[in-house]
Amino acid sequence: MVSRVIPVDLFDLVIFGATGDLAMRKILPALYRRDLAGQLPDGARIIGAARSDFTDASWRDELRRDLADCVPASLQEAGALDRFLNRLGYVPIDVRGEDGWRDLAARIRPKAIQAYYFSVGPDLFGDLARNLHAHGMNSETCRIVVEKPFGHDLSSARALNATLAAHFHEHQVYRIDHYLGKETVQNLMAVRFGNMLFEPLWNAQYVDHIQITVAETVGVAGRGEYYDKSGAVRDMVQNHMMQLLCLIAMEPPYAFEPDAVRDEKLKVIRALDPVAPDDIVRGQYGAANGFASYLEDVGNPDSHTESFIAIKAHVSSWRWKGTPFYLRTGKRLRARTSEIVVTFKDPPHSIFGPQEGQKSNVLAIRLQPNEGIKLKVTIKEPGPGGMRLIEVPLDMSFAEALGEGARDIADAYERLIMDVIRGNQTLFMRGDEVEAAWAWTDPIIAAWDAREDRPQLYDPGSSGPEDALMLMHRDGRRWREVKP
Ligand code: NAP
Repeated sequence: MVSRVIPVDLFDLVIFGATGDLAMRKILPALYRRDLAGQLPDGARIIGAARSDFTDASWRDELRRDLADCVPASLQEAGALDRFLNRLGYVPIDVRGEDGWRDLAARIRPKAIQAYYFSVGPDLFGDLARNLHAHGMNSETCRIVVEKPFGHDLSSARALNATLAAHFHEHQVYRIDHYLGKETVQNLMAVRFGNMLFEPLWNAQYVDHIQITVAETVGVAGRGEYYDKSGAVRDMVQNHMMQLLCLIAMEPPYAFEPDAVRDEKLKVIRALDPVAPDDIVRGQYGAANGFASYLEDVGNPDSHTESFIAIKAHVSSWRWKGTPFYLRTGKRLRARTSEIVVTFKDPPHSIFGPQEGQKSNVLAIRLQPNEGIKLKVTIKEPGPGGMRLIEVPLDMSFAEALGEGARDIADAYERLIMDVIRGNQTLFMRGDEVEAAWAWTDPIIAAWDAREDRPQLYDPGSSGPEDALMLMHRDGRRWREVKP
């Protein structure tokens, strides 16, 4: 199945922080791939801006070399690369300074869609917004794209929202959480609201519990300084995992439209109960199996920051009262995997008597790797041996099911940047959503800061600290194994 490509309208996209890691590894390769797919119209332009002293020509030369490392060889086509590079320009700008803005403003075409990607540190967002305004680049139709982290806590997120709101309307602000651009994450909505099969069962009456796991094998080396000030709750729970929880738990929006979807997500966040201290397990990876410890990786022997967290959360709503949501995320775990697992309740009565093979139905939605959906169902074991039950998976790997079209799954940034140009905010977080998420996570962080206790150690390559297993065992439940 080959996916349809509908070209977007003419645009000028300015990437502030164009020489940085995110621009080089994600944003520019994503744009190249969309160009290769035929989605960028003739005349669409991408303008890089940062302090480094490049010209249009020298930046193109730089990118010709760098893109070769960031784009798979199979997608590198000489003609396509030339066409893409010809779209690129560069303006040296210090976001905090005065130089360069007039040059940039002169390049922006009023008739094209204007998008400004803030791929710089959050401390520069305010200056950037002010300078775009001061130099007449905040037209009513322009868009700004803001990267995470969006604040460090509720008060900083509020301040950041206020700074942006001073110069841009909410409908112009695209707060990126790249998780929302993943194919399977959007498929959560398609599976829930495009089928009759699941939705009638999607509530506390039929769902025993839901698990959300985002496990990584990497440690924090290389970004230790940032991570140590952040930790797993700020880095993963407040944003990515919260978004997954919202999509799983929300009521059907009246339409697949930005505010309809975001209103429903917001209701879920507001319905989250405060988390009891006993329902949180924090972990930090130790040194083992040839890996350095978290403390060594961040160069801070006294750090209390968590590289792992498990939380039992409750959504106090008519639909979910009584169904726990178990969230866990961590670094240096056994495998790199993200999945959402919905475990349904047992049938009220087994007509087959006590049978080992009769297990609860489990719907596992895998976000990475090998995006797909697996539903475990009970069937009769084939053969003449009587009515013995076994559990079998109905397994749909998107790569297998969609063949050619599955290539589009590759990168969330491709879809999200095209949505910015299309002016579709459905997959971007609204300001009140981000603030509500901080309002839920702030007390969690404040409580353990007050206790000053250390996170539990766990071995690299494990599935996290023992207490995280106990968090479920004590409820008579189990985590799904962390495996690739
Ligand atoms: P980075 O590698 O440190 O790049 C920062 C960029 O900002 C560089 O292009 C730098 O270029 C530019 N810059 C710094 N100070 C500037 C100034 N005063 N005026 C103009 N440009 C300035 O950072 P990054 O990893 O790309 O991250 C960028 C943003 O994305 C951050 O907010 C980060 O939290 C977020 N983010 C990054 C990732 C990732 O995987 N990297 C993932 C999610 C979110 P010059 O030095 O040439 O000025």
